[in-house]
Amino acid sequence: MHRRSQTFLFELRDRRRVAELAEANDRLELLARTDPLTGIANRRWMTETLDHLWVGGRKCPDGAAMLMCDIDDFKKLNDHLGHAEGDRCLVEVARIIQENVRRDRDHVARYGGEEFLVLLPAVDEEGAVSVAERIRKSVEDAGLPNPASRVSRRVTLSIGVAVQTTDEAISPEQLQRHADTALYLAKQTGRNRVMLNRPEASGRKHIQSTR
Ligand code: GH3
Ligand code: MG
Ligand code: MG
Repeated sequence: MHRRSQTFLFELRDRRRVAELAEANDRLELLARTDPLTGIANRRWMTETLDHLWVGGRKCPDGAAMLMCDIDDFKKLNDHLGHAEGDRCLVEVARIIQENVRRDRDHVARYGGEEFLVLLPAVDEEGAVSVAERIRKSVEDAGLPNPASRVSRRVTLSIGVAVQTTDEAISPEQLQRHADTALYLAKQTGRNRVMLNRPEASGRKHIQSTR
């Protein structure tokens, strides 16, 4: 073969290899941010999203709400129906949560075993509680079995809500802690409920949403 055309072919092959490598790298990056069971974002991806949205780590300029969602008595589901049924339940709950948020701007991540964190940018308290309540009800209405649950014979969800308003500065970690406290109270007061952690002049106050 002519030397010049050979060089050209080598260059072409190298270019294709570089493109293939870049593609493989993108796939790996996506994989590292995705929860393999449910296919939604994992904790790492959510942390990156929060870092991106919080200007200087101080505030999300348009305001934002966090919904910390935790399946009730999930250990009992595993114990009574088996781990495979538990896994199916996680996939379903992830799907239901996603169906109830805005695809173009909200973020859903599997945060721990049976815990999901939902981030809603640019919503107020009322909006956040209404989305949380809609998620809670959709999970209950789906009628997934959890026969040994203390709450009901179905799978239910407890949700803690915390909101950063536009005129407030609060770090994502702090906001998450507020959502966690609300979740803890939702669990303590009976589960299958939405609890809002609201800032008051005299400290913070928890309000249970109607159900
Ligand atoms: P609570 O209502 O207080 O939240 O009780 P709970 O039983 O849901 O919570 P607990 O933390 O006691 O149990 C969580 C269980 O979730 C224990 C663990 O085995 C299970 N789990 C965590 N990850 C997975 C998973 O990927 N698949 C399945 N099937 N189970 C999981
Ligand atoms: Mg749980
Ligand atoms: Mg949990």
